[in-house]
Amino acid sequence: MTDTAPLTFAVTKNLAAKTAAQREEILANPGFGTNFTDHMVDICWSENGGWHRPRVQPYGPIPLDPAAAVLHYGQEIFEGIKAYRHADGSVHTFRPDRNAARLRNSARRLALPELPTEYFIQSLRELIAVDEAWVPSGADQSLYFRPFMFAKEAFLGVRPAKKVAYYVIASPAGAYFSGGVKPVRIWLSENYSRAGKGGTGAAKTGGNYASSLLPQSEAYAKGCDQVVFLDQDRNVEELGGMNVVFVFKDGRILTPQSDSILEGITRDSLLQLAEDRGLTVERGSITLGEWRQGVASGDIVEVFACGTAAVVTPIGALVSEEFEDEQPQGELALSLREELTDIQYGRREDKHGWLVRL
Ligand code: PMP
Repeated sequence: MTDTAPLTFAVTKNLAAKTAAQREEILANPGFGTNFTDHMVDICWSENGGWHRPRVQPYGPIPLDPAAAVLHYGQEIFEGIKAYRHADGSVHTFRPDRNAARLRNSARRLALPELPTEYFIQSLRELIAVDEAWVPSGADQSLYFRPFMFAKEAFLGVRPAKKVAYYVIASPAGAYFSGGVKPVRIWLSENYSRAGKGGTGAAKTGGNYASSLLPQSEAYAKGCDQVVFLDQDRNVEELGGMNVVFVFKDGRILTPQSDSILEGITRDSLLQLAEDRGLTVERGSITLGEWRQGVASGDIVEVFACGTAAVVTPIGALVSEEFEDEQPQGELALSLREELTDIQYGRREDKHGWLVRL
């Protein structure tokens, strides 16, 4: 296939790159999303030229015309995926084909061009080739990649842009929970929805996150950490940035799945590991009423959230204006979390072939 033959990236080294000492200081305490590696990847797309001008260049501001469509109509999509350093020093990423496929799904929904999987994986490799030293080696640390694509054509008409940019930046990430994983309080968003039928809920696009900010502030104001959204029929959807999983007494595991929920790769992997253990996995729906009743009757024995950033987060309480339901705490969430992170960090056999060496 000629259109997915490897690209040849032009590499411009960052002459103002951090010194080894500056980098080590950051990696000792990376936090999340505030520090960035020395370089970034950039590939252009145009209607006539397809994908072209692949580059690795110094990390820095992106020149953008004030009329660039993304600034007006939000034609933008992104991904989140990590690189993990193994004990032997090698660097691996996890199921990048799935993130690539999701980016293509998001692209279709937002009328953006579909980046081939080969280019997606190559873009991560090219960045690691220059910034490998930024992959931390501490416990539960990783390098978080943020691939993103946006409409850069300067045109105020409302139609799909004919010029698009794809970038990858990377940010070292520390252990999400310092001092151990702790259950979170979840605020039930009654006034705001995240997505609607036929909307963009299944796409990873900035607008979904913009619309979650106000309900998220409401959650903080109510002493909660995260928001859970319902659909019009009061089915549970997901949190602002994580999927939800319910564990039943009879060994069944249920996760809401619909065309308005983002297909999480962490969730898919955890559910595969649960199936490997002989548990029954259902992808379906559960209403708020069924959730509350299940907890009250003891049928639901655990509820957890999952996503790339925090991996697994047990839900400790469901809070609304009217009620506060304590959630039962079990062993499964944390045991699946350990199994998954063991695979990601190369401490356990990768039976499903999920790791890709960068
Ligand atoms: N739902 C939403 C809305 C998200 O932003 C994320 C994070 N990407 C997830 C679910 C979990 O997806 P993943 O496991 O692929 O990180």
